[in-house]
Amino acid sequence: MVSVLARSLSRLVFPEVCLGCGVPTRGRLPVCASCLRRLPHASSEAIRAELDARGAAAQDIRHAAALWQFDAGGTVQRIQHALKYRGLPRIGAPLGELIGSSFSETASGWRPDVVAPIPLARTRQLERGYNQADGLAAGAAEALEARFDPGLMHRVRSTRSQTRLSHAARWANVQGAFTLHPDATVRGRRVLLIDDVITTGATLLAAAEPLRAAGAEVSLAALAFAP
Ligand SMILES: [Zn+2]
Repeated sequence: MVSVLARSLSRLVFPEVCLGCGVPTRGRLPVCASCLRRLPHASSEAIRAELDARGAAAQDIRHAAALWQFDAGGTVQRIQHALKYRGLPRIGAPLGELIGSSFSETASGWRPDVVAPIPLARTRQLERGYNQADGLAAGAAEALEARFDPGLMHRVRSTRSQTRLSHAARWANVQGAFTLHPDATVRGRRVLLIDDVITTGATLLAAAEPLRAAGAEVSLAALAFAP
């Protein structure tokens, strides 16, 4: 109820304007076509290097990509904030479709069978009313013609906010935080995990761990890369 109200209010407070230049937009995306073309692309080589710095956990990750490079104070940050804090989950699916198209260019030939979001900690999901990665994963699944499975991953323990932790502490903080749904059968399947942002990659790698242990091939994708 609270989240429904918050969403209705956000429509009034944040009308449909481009988050880049402020012109009214009629599309499903929160940016106009001209701003969309100017958003900074993330380098998949840089993402790979960041993941490799986490050590062995990154070795079997097939592909890792993000749609945009995070731009502190810029349009990408405003989009991410809108998705996460303004109660605008409806922009998730169209952004997810862009993630899916961009991922398929990076991962030439590797197509996922299943696309799954990184689950939020239960308390955070209750506060926010939705998981911002759900819409992204649904849109990416649509673009990649894969199955969307929002319940594939479970968070078995909540973790501290990663924001103020060092890189090494982030990894220790999230390891063992995720399990697979007990009925999931993923052996030999290709799974694409989706989060809103890749920072050190620790969260995505921790979620990939039980999938790899169960015999899945795993790739990772996000909206933004914010190293
Ligand atoms: Zn614009």
